[in-house]
Amino acid sequence: MAPSLRPAPAHRPRHAAARLARLKDMQARYREDAATFPTDWLDYGEHDPLECDRWINPCVACGAEPRPRATGTLVVVRCQCGAEALGAKMRWQALMSWNKSPLAKHPPWRELPFFFLSDLDITQARHKLARLRTHLELRANIAGTRRALGMNAGSDFIQRLKAYLAWCHYAQSLVVREMREMERRAAGEVEGS
Ligand SMILES: [Zn+2]
Repeated sequence: MAPSLRPAPAHRPRHAAARLARLKDMQARYREDAATFPTDWLDYGEHDPLECDRWINPCVACGAEPRPRATGTLVVVRCQCGAEALGAKMRWQALMSWNKSPLAKHPPWRELPFFFLSDLDITQARHKLARLRTHLELRANIAGTRRALGMNAGSDFIQRLKAYLAWCHYAQSLVVREMREMERRAAGEVEGS
């Protein structure tokens, strides 16, 4: 690979200016998105995604509920049967890493603890999650950039937004999985008729 041409840290002010420009751009996009974002969707649910141990999926292999454990600087979700997901720095990340893995038994998307999906049909859920994803990505990026610029943005606040975003990605993957299954079933019926 060619040597990096990135400027040395002496050029930090220029980085800050670039960050500030990016922040303004993201804030403008957020305002644009917020203009049509339903206000009741700002309520993501009653649970805190940073305290989410009870939402660990059961193990596919043995049916047990694995627990997160701290190992050195990482948290790892490991089952009694030995199944183990990739570790992560944050507890919620470790949990998500397990939940999304093929080691975990996935719940129906309607039963996920966030975003009030239980009463939606699959098209509504798909639409809501797509809007939420953009909304949460912008919020998390804005908060992260503000923190990098030394502006007031708490670490827990940013982690919470990132955790909501991870649950949103996970919900989307479960919705897509169900849509593919519906398509397969429909194709099978056509072939069978
Ligand atoms: Zn197990």
